[in-house]
Amino acid sequence: MRRTYLVTGGAGFIGSHLVEALLGQGHQVVAFDNLSTGRLRNLDHLGHDPGLRFVQGSVLDELAVDELMHACDSVIHLAAAVGVKLIVDEPLRSFTTNIRGSEIVIESAFRHRRPILLASTSEIYGKNSDVPLRETDDRILGPTTTARWAYSTAKAVDEILAYAYHRERGLPTTVVRLFNTVGPRQSPAYGMVVPRLARQAVAGAPLTVYGDGTQSRCFCHVSDVVDALLGLLDNPDAVGGVFNVGSTEEVTIYALAERIVQRAGSSSPIRLVPYDHAYPFGFEDMKRRLPSIDRIRNLTGWHPTRTLDDILAETIAEAAAERAASVAGTI
Ligand code: UDP
Repeated sequence: MRRTYLVTGGAGFIGSHLVEALLGQGHQVVAFDNLSTGRLRNLDHLGHDPGLRFVQGSVLDELAVDELMHACDSVIHLAAAVGVKLIVDEPLRSFTTNIRGSEIVIESAFRHRRPILLASTSEIYGKNSDVPLRETDDRILGPTTTARWAYSTAKAVDEILAYAYHRERGLPTTVVRLFNTVGPRQSPAYGMVVPRLARQAVAGAPLTVYGDGTQSRCFCHVSDVVDALLGLLDNPDAVGGVFNVGSTEEVTIYALAERIVQRAGSSSPIRLVPYDHAYPFGFEDMKRRLPSIDRIRNLTGWHPTRTLDDILAETIAEAAAERAASVAGTI
């Protein structure tokens, strides 16, 4: 059935891929974005599609959200201040946008009785490094003065609000906890390690590995993440649920850097950067973060299909093309 989806954060990295997939299924999409971290050029290649409407605005603008909500059948709320660097550099803006913005979107979804799929984050688990992390696992957080825990708390408030609206008011809400997601169009500007290291490798610059590089992550390709979202969207069995979405292929950051250097055919050295040089004082990193994806797999059959090597090949190619274009532009 052809539907109209409101995608907040629709010009962002994950948002733009989701918009593309929804249009590909023949749906209408309203992409709503304040272009703070989103970029219009993420949607450039879809500009000709008559099913797409882009609206520039903020989720803090209640009237705008309400008007768009009214015109849509269902909402996917991705708009948020994301990226460890942004959260650490601008904790106040991140905190208020993430709490107030989500409250406005959820309240509006309730007023119009629109199902909502809310993007949350693996940061919810804080420094719990159990393997694998299940949706029911504890959140382990440090002091409120550490920006990372404030971010985790803001997203937890969003989840709690969505769940409460479901339980007490019957609003169909579904929460996804996105783990590290990578792929084309991800900006290196907000700290994300894969696009950063790929760009350093193609530029022949040292790859900056923070700490001792023994911390590990699992990187999931954005097209797999979008498939996971599509499987949960408007799925009655997912309502009221929370689902981890991520890869289970674990890699240490040092090994990641080595693989990027090798695959890029680069001669860049790998440089260990102490955390207190990379981030403001008091920063805490997660040692390990690997999701259990049993819950979504059992419900929808979803599992990631793209390997880390696929992801690196694509990211390095994108970084190389970008560099070639910028070198050509300066001649
Ligand atoms: N990281 C790194 N070098 C960089 C950027 C990040 O070593 O230039 C590390 C970071 O400290 C963390 C991991 O890579 O241990 C993943 O960082 P990212 O910001 O991509 O995601 P998150 O911390 O949210 O998992």
